[in-house]
Amino acid sequence: MKKGRVFSGARPTGRQHLGNYLGAIKNYVALQENYDCVYCVVDLHALTTLADTEHLRTWTYEMVLDWLAAGIDPECGTIVFVQSHVPQVTELHTILSMVTPLGKLTRLPTFKEKVRQQPDNVNYGLVGYPVLMAADITLYKADVVPVGVDQASHLEFTREIVRTFNHHFGPVLVEPQAKYTEVPKVLGIDGINKMSKSLNNHVELASEPEELYARVRMMVTDPQRQRRTDPGRPEVCNVFSLHNVFTPQETVGQIEADCRTAGIGCVECKKMLAENLVVHLAPFRERRSQLATDPDYVWDVLRDGAERAKTIARQVIAEVQTAVGLP
Ligand code: SF4
Repeated sequence: MKKGRVFSGARPTGRQHLGNYLGAIKNYVALQENYDCVYCVVDLHALTTLADTEHLRTWTYEMVLDWLAAGIDPECGTIVFVQSHVPQVTELHTILSMVTPLGKLTRLPTFKEKVRQQPDNVNYGLVGYPVLMAADITLYKADVVPVGVDQASHLEFTREIVRTFNHHFGPVLVEPQAKYTEVPKVLGIDGINKMSKSLNNHVELASEPEELYARVRMMVTDPQRQRRTDPGRPEVCNVFSLHNVFTPQETVGQIEADCRTAGIGCVECKKMLAENLVVHLAPFRERRSQLATDPDYVWDVLRDGAERAKTIARQVIAEVQTAVGLP
């Protein structure tokens, strides 16, 4: 017996990297055991920047292929679909916008940040973004939304919209609960910024072994370790933080000790990490190539996911229409 329904959405960003895997995908896969999961590619949200729209199809395909290869499994009941394939979300967005004060939206720190990022394109979609997010979650009566502690305010805004709506029109929408998950901050190969495709500091899950070795070789380590004989500080080294995830624990302890006493050089240490990454990601790469042999497979999964999502969405929209009094 499952504990409820989980909803989560991600913008289509193409091939996924280690940061995406450790920050979201791994958790998406684990949640399937105890929850009915609804995972959505939020392509409408991606339009708010009006950038790279010509890549939306390819990036959707590549991202979902990675999700499926990593273990997100429609066969076990998980719904994977594209936001714009279920048009009911835009209707719910419009209705929820009627109970959302404009002042609140424009005061949100996320909106102010977006205005800073794209001052020449402060469009209506940017302002309404959190309302569309609330529509995404409530359209599927999600009980639970996985969030990192720093994203709790985003979900709280959805909860507020739900409370306001239900106060006006009756208890129709489900107020989602946050499921706090530890979202590790995975740094990019520059060792400074969060791993990100746009900064080109990422390591793709689907990389071939040679590419993995090349990217790991480029990783910045402890900046104070100038010479091979200098003792290192694993606690400030990004290579070491990845060893913590991808290297067996008994070896991690040894690496830590060897680093502190200059018993191991960074070149060797990185080689070990790359080797472990290659081993760890081998089943993923194999499954990915297997799934990619049928170019229709991802689209079939998304088509089927949209149909299943629509079954829930139609029911919820009908309840909402009745509640608000639409004829
Ligand atoms: S030996 Fe390894 S853990 Fe130590 S600084 Fe070099 S790369 Fe980092």
